[in-house]
Amino acid sequence: MLNSPIDEIKNKLNIVEVVGSYIKLTKAGINHRAICPFHSEKKPSFFVSPTRQIWHCFGCGLGGDIFGFVKEIEGVEFGDALRILAQKAGVELKRESPKLRTERQRLYQICELATLFFEKQLESKTGQEVKKYLIGRGINEDSIIKWRIGWSPDSWQGLIDFLVSKGYQKQELVKAGLVIRNEKGSYYDRFRTRIMFPVFDLSSQVVGFGGRIFKSEDTAKYMNTPATLLYNKSRILYGLDKSKVEIRKKDFCILAEGYIDVILGHQAGFENMVATSGTALTPFQLKILKRYSENLFTAFDMDIAGDTATKRGIDLAQAQGFSIKIVVLPEGKDPADVISENPKEFEKFTENAKAILDFYFENAFSKTDAKTPEGKKEISKVLLPVIKRIPNKIEQSFWIQKLARGLGVKEDVVDQELKKIKTEKESLGLEPEEMEKAPIKSRKELLEEGLIICLLRYKSLLDSIEEKDFEFLSSQTCQIISCLKEKKEIPSELSDIFNYLSLKADINKEENEENIEEEWLYCLKEIKFLVIKEKLDKISQDIKVAELDKDSEKNKKLIEEFSNLAKQLNEEKT
Ligand SMILES: [Zn+2]
Repeated sequence: MLNSPIDEIKNKLNIVEVVGSYIKLTKAGINHRAICPFHSEKKPSFFVSPTRQIWHCFGCGLGGDIFGFVKEIEGVEFGDALRILAQKAGVELKRESPKLRTERQRLYQICELATLFFEKQLESKTGQEVKKYLIGRGINEDSIIKWRIGWSPDSWQGLIDFLVSKGYQKQELVKAGLVIRNEKGSYYDRFRTRIMFPVFDLSSQVVGFGGRIFKSEDTAKYMNTPATLLYNKSRILYGLDKSKVEIRKKDFCILAEGYIDVILGHQAGFENMVATSGTALTPFQLKILKRYSENLFTAFDMDIAGDTATKRGIDLAQAQGFSIKIVVLPEGKDPADVISENPKEFEKFTENAKAILDFYFENAFSKTDAKTPEGKKEISKVLLPVIKRIPNKIEQSFWIQKLARGLGVKEDVVDQELKKIKTEKESLGLEPEEMEKAPIKSRKELLEEGLIICLLRYKSLLDSIEEKDFEFLSSQTCQIISCLKEKKEIPSELSDIFNYLSLKADINKEENEENIEEEWLYCLKEIKFLVIKEKLDKISQDIKVAELDKDSEKNKKLIEEFSNLAKQLNEEKT
């Protein structure tokens, strides 16, 4: 398609600026390099090529264009990456025709307008009181603006009138979760006399609201948007849009329970803090979090013996391989309390966070008497499931020993009890985590890549490649070499691999000064060896079969073939 928005965005944006807005790039010759944000490494193997407008990590194998980068780093789908980059590039995306898309789009607009409406209400008389209250809780003006906090007035029709005047149907407002239709068919605002906290999706678009009661008789302290096309509380982590980059940078995420915890946390510099919107951690949320870090610090009350939803969420995270630490706060205090009193204190609590197993052990043994039989049973009831969940067997056996010692029983007794416990997979029906790793390349594939890289670096080698060499190479390699030889354009289905190899050639050019011709000969020779050896293996298998079948005719032919190949192998060696 000519002039597609994708091409338009690619033309307007420079990959170095896009990637550079997320991670620190250092110039390295014509390219830029960085510590890879997608796998842990000490030496930078992540490269960005401005000439080719691609990126590639030679450590983990990930790579692609700007869309692929934004998808990975933001942890979003292609459509969202497109939207984010379109905004950066100032390219207007034409509204797609399917009805659902339009409906979604309108719901986004409604949520955005409602946010503006609630923000505006802060200027009213009661709004000013709300502001005073927020500031009293330690939330400053910048944070009020950043988190777009607002006020829903004491009115049944205020928001409806505003949105209808902007051209939206009442029925759409119901779908956005902002308006309720009663049995008599009349409509009224869902949120009244509440402090409004907009909830953002990963691209910072408002998808729902949490409303906290203020000066009202209403019993519900918090009220949330019900499930809508845009808002699903089990899929959203409050604040993740503003903390994802920091979570990746610090390589841990602080999980709190309330909006105010997160807002105060960010304000005090703990910008890797998120909250669940009144749910326990769900598998979906964990999957998103895992894109940013596998280290989770919880900063809320944990009742280790109870089977609370919160604890189940943490159990789930542990079972999914998250390393969990518990930030132990003073009795009855939440992060917001501690931070508003003294942010340094909160930092100290975070630094002293306890590994979950230590936390569970200390708790269980301090609350229960390990000397009585009932106590032993009680403690093992709490600790065995936690130990069972440890994916690493060596780590697991450490805790088995510790529990056995603490209870004064033999290890195999603990082992036996452990076997009776159901694993999470059995009890929760968990899917094994699908890992999106780059495919592992065979030695031959790597050698062929090496061969092409040499050709790219030293074009005159193209004349040394002979027709008979082609039979040893994959059709993909043959195609690329032919194009290079005949100075033809690389076919589009091979452009990704070709771009990747060109970038690698650029980087090798800057880093190594080894003899390319020698390298080239080595690759070609090794490839031939591999191919011939593979054939020899195959023939010797066939010979065995022919011997068993007593097929002497066939056997003779095979042996002949074998010796010819062996001769060829010898020739190649010299
Ligand atoms: Zn990497």
